[in-house]
Amino acid sequence: MISSTDSSTPGRLERALASLRGLAVGDALGSQFFVPANYPLLKQRELPPAPWQWTDDTEMACSVVAVLAAHHRIDQDALAHSFAAHHDFDRGYGPAVNRLLRLVREGGDWRELAAALFNGQGSWGNGAAMRIAPLGAWYADDPEQATHQAEISAYPTHQHREAVVGAMAVAAAAALVAAPGGPPSPQALLDGVVALVPRSAVGQGLRRARDMLDYADPGTVAAVLGCGRRTTAHDTVPFALWSAARALGDYRTAFWATAQVGGDVDTTCAIVGGVLAGGRSGAPPAAWAERTEALPEWMPAGTGTGAGG
Ligand SMILES: [Mg+2]
Repeated sequence: MISSTDSSTPGRLERALASLRGLAVGDALGSQFFVPANYPLLKQRELPPAPWQWTDDTEMACSVVAVLAAHHRIDQDALAHSFAAHHDFDRGYGPAVNRLLRLVREGGDWRELAAALFNGQGSWGNGAAMRIAPLGAWYADDPEQATHQAEISAYPTHQHREAVVGAMAVAAAAALVAAPGGPPSPQALLDGVVALVPRSAVGQGLRRARDMLDYADPGTVAAVLGCGRRTTAHDTVPFALWSAARALGDYRTAFWATAQVGGDVDTTCAIVGGVLAGGRSGAPPAAWAERTEALPEWMPAGTGTGAGG
């Protein structure tokens, strides 16, 4: 059982790793449904053949946890350099982030490079949100600090306001789910997240998500909120947090409800899995964790124990 009240560094790390494992399972299993041969399995809620490899969502989340373990907060330079050092081109990064991380690795300044993306608007993709749930679990005792640190964590790659707020929202949700007292009600969770994020399209989507908590069909909700087909934070985060709120403490149900609507499935499932798994009773099924590729060996000592470890 994860302790939500332990604010020692080992206690924080334990929660962050639990969230990271949930994130990795969601990412790895979700990404299996980009394989056309696996489409029929999704309808029947059957598991595809193992092993399931995780993607960029997990690789970047490992850097977030490694930086928290080393610095006990987000150090932007350390985070940017960890992203660049561990960037594996074959993990499904978007083209802009692939180029950015290659240039950082070659000595470029992430501040200039990230600010220049998309004609100076910065990226409004999901990269900052998809990797951040473990940070929320780390700050289970302080959702405001989780939101603040998530904001800081976005900038090395994603500087558009919507991408930044998307990360803030996911971290806030993960902190509230992992908080002492256990996961709040679905309504209290989305109320809490809405209160912690600034006005934005993501915030607007979260208010709509809150108004749709009594809808039973994820497809209907995804048709309104989006499910990542545009790979923007505002068409991804509101649906993912709706889905997490609807199935608190029940990873299996949350996963299938999230995956069944399609869209950016590895990322929506990574967000939902990371948010749920940092809280009580939110861990992925053991059999799913066993089929998921182990976390990378470069994780700090004691943390690279595999997704099922
Ligand atoms: Mg991915």
